[in-house]
Amino acid sequence: MKILIVEDEQKTGDYLKQGLSEAGFVVDLVRDGLDGMHLALTDDYDLVVLDVMLPGLDGWQVLQRIRQRGKHMPVLFLTARDQIEDRVKGLELGADDYLVKPFAFSELLARVRTLLRRGKTKEPERLQAADLELDLLRRRVTRAGKRIDLTSKEFALLELLLRRQGEVLPRSLIASQVWDMNFDSDTNVIEVAMRRLRAKIDDDFEPKLIRTLRGMGYVLEIPEPQ
Ligand code: CA
Repeated sequence: MKILIVEDEQKTGDYLKQGLSEAGFVVDLVRDGLDGMHLALTDDYDLVVLDVMLPGLDGWQVLQRIRQRGKHMPVLFLTARDQIEDRVKGLELGADDYLVKPFAFSELLARVRTLLRRGKTKEPERLQAADLELDLLRRRVTRAGKRIDLTSKEFALLELLLRRQGEVLPRSLIASQVWDMNFDSDTNVIEVAMRRLRAKIDDDFEPKLIRTLRGMGYVLEIPEPQ
């Protein structure tokens, strides 16, 4: 089990790292919100312990970005401010639990264990990129809050792109996953479906999320700000 700690206060960070390591976890510690976000997105953690007040990006921003990019590991927030608005805000953004500083290490460890037990069985109900949302339970798609009607193939295609966000998906993989067929270069069924999907989710909105990489395939990702 691998845990990421994002905490800028030296003593608290060191203490958490040592305690969780002694409890048998593999622990990475970073002291800055940007580093935290990058590690959370690129490495595979079972849980993130996230301080709210951080240099770089604050805890809210880190949480929002990792959720937007489809990462659903449990997140335990550490906050010095025991205020109801903070809790509500964090939970809306997708935090799983809260701990108010100062706390006893045994309390943190108990919460971590509970979250890890829960987290293993939790399948996301929604996939999301920027303001595009796909609700897996209700089979609904919205962009900027606006309902978008998709055919079942377009829905499956968008689901695949969102689940594999940031990865370049070759046509052969899309063909086998969405159409259940072997890729045949004579067919333009993927191009046609992709064009229709983009017309619906990208044409009237910014930023454009789906890109074609000539000769390689397609990728859905939030473009880096210029
Ligand atoms: Ca802090």
